[in-house]
Amino acid sequence: MQLPNSTNSEQQIAGLDSSSWARKMNDDIVSALTVDVEDYFQVSGFEAVVSPASWGSFESRVERNTDRLLDILADARVIATFFILGWTAERFPQLVRRIQAAGHELGSHSYAHRLVYLCSQREFREDTRRAKKVVEDISGEEVIGYRAPSFSITRKSLWALEILAEEGFHYDSSIFPIRRDRYGIPAAPRHPFQVILRNGQPTPGASEHKRANAVLSKAIVEVPPSTIPLFRMTLPIGGGGYFRLCPPLLFHRAIGRIVEGERRPTVLYIHPWELDPQQPRFRNGSWLSRFRHYLNLEKTEKRLKSLLARWQFTSVIDLLARLPEIPQLSLEEIPSRASRRSLR
Ligand SMILES: [Zn+2]
Repeated sequence: MQLPNSTNSEQQIAGLDSSSWARKMNDDIVSALTVDVEDYFQVSGFEAVVSPASWGSFESRVERNTDRLLDILADARVIATFFILGWTAERFPQLVRRIQAAGHELGSHSYAHRLVYLCSQREFREDTRRAKKVVEDISGEEVIGYRAPSFSITRKSLWALEILAEEGFHYDSSIFPIRRDRYGIPAAPRHPFQVILRNGQPTPGASEHKRANAVLSKAIVEVPPSTIPLFRMTLPIGGGGYFRLCPPLLFHRAIGRIVEGERRPTVLYIHPWELDPQQPRFRNGSWLSRFRHYLNLEKTEKRLKSLLARWQFTSVIDLLARLPEIPQLSLEEIPSRASRRSLR
């Protein structure tokens, strides 16, 4: 159970009053909070102006910013899932250990932050295997959750789910059920579902134990970032630029629509660099990338605290353990409208 830990001004931002606290304490829907651990120069929006080969030449601020986030979560007594970039984990193993020591779940955000649909299947497998091993070697803990760079598991890279399952991941949180320039599968379900992969049948003649493992390795749970349907559109409310753009009261209302209206958990995401308005600025990125990246950075911390004060959050693995049931789909059904309607 989280305990409210917020100032009066933060409560006012969220439009809260004392009855809201009582409501929070009675909420039985617990959402997932996720963190993509990467530095400000590693984001996809600036990849045209910052090559991965030059990452080592930039001032790193990821440790400081992630530590700030850890403090905020500790104050709010919230446990989250940290999807850590392998490149970053390798350079800052103590940061991985601090995240782990605080009780958070460790996940993978790939090794080199390459968009999945721009990788060959072989490149994706190598990157994913390396990323998983780095975090596991540092923590001594199995990593079972994956978040693709920029949600880049789309229709053309759905094969990635099979590779993730084969590499030992139990869940993925990379399919955004919206239509965007870089990512999204608009017809995909909005809430967690299990994907039965192409060969997801028990091996004939296998022992009971082997058969269970065979089935397990041929399925993966998908945990989509949150969206709300509005007229004929689906609006993203998972985090990032949308979180910083949307007025706090509207953002709270959107979460309320899912948690209180649909009685479903939300899945939100944040990056450590979003808490750092002083980060060095790239003046040569595209206008849209700079707008998305720099918008309202100075407001993130206050807004995050108001979210933590109002709603209950936990890690993805804990969220999945709390779900009474998870509907199943085949890989081919993910982009089909019919499957989405049936899972609404
Ligand atoms: Zn990222």
